[in-house]
Amino acid sequence: MQDKSIGLLRREFGPLCHDSINDLPDGWATIVGEFFHAVEGIGDLVEAVSCRFERTDSGLQAFVFPEMSRWHPEQMAALQAAQRTLYGQSQTTCETCGKEAIYPPGANGFFCTEHDIESVRNAEDLARVTEELEPILPYKALRRFSLDVPPHLRELVFGTLREIKEVVERENLVRHCHVMNVMVVDDQLYIRGRFRDSFPMSVRSDIDDLIRRAEWQSAEMARGGSDAS
Ligand SMILES: [Zn+2]
Repeated sequence: MQDKSIGLLRREFGPLCHDSINDLPDGWATIVGEFFHAVEGIGDLVEAVSCRFERTDSGLQAFVFPEMSRWHPEQMAALQAAQRTLYGQSQTTCETCGKEAIYPPGANGFFCTEHDIESVRNAEDLARVTEELEPILPYKALRRFSLDVPPHLRELVFGTLREIKEVVERENLVRHCHVMNVMVVDDQLYIRGRFRDSFPMSVRSDIDDLIRRAEWQSAEMARGGSDAS
């Protein structure tokens, strides 16, 4: 979710918000808010609980912790109804914009007509770029990250990784260094590389410069973004 949506939900439903809301798509912010509202309406014991969300291929599931053995049967029933409602709503709510989604969903998730096309294109782009960058990525089975960064950072991330790949290929150093992680935390990009001990220092420092430049640019973009809002 975008920081703005997370902020709104946290302000209104603070303790109920498990960190898993951060990973939910922005288009679902409204139905998640409605779910919190329903949970609050159950009353009494909800102050002590937190709601964790899990996005499955068939819809959005919510889990409420800790298990509430002390809840009345009516409260349990109300919670289950809220969980079912959220699950059903997620199936027909576009993850990107919150408008009505096509049902049943496509392989990429729950999207309206406009964003379904976009998501297919993004998935194809991502597969293509990932394949292109294989020489500087860890072997697939060992890879613990995806290049699926937020859209506004794609050009920056893909461009930087291409530059790194060019350097590595030019210097005949393929498989002597890898990009071990690409992370985005609060809109700030982090790229981590790993180099063999024998890796030439001068080439490494060129690659480090490319990474530092990209991280700096993402920080600049994040600052620009917050000025604009
Ligand atoms: Zn949409």
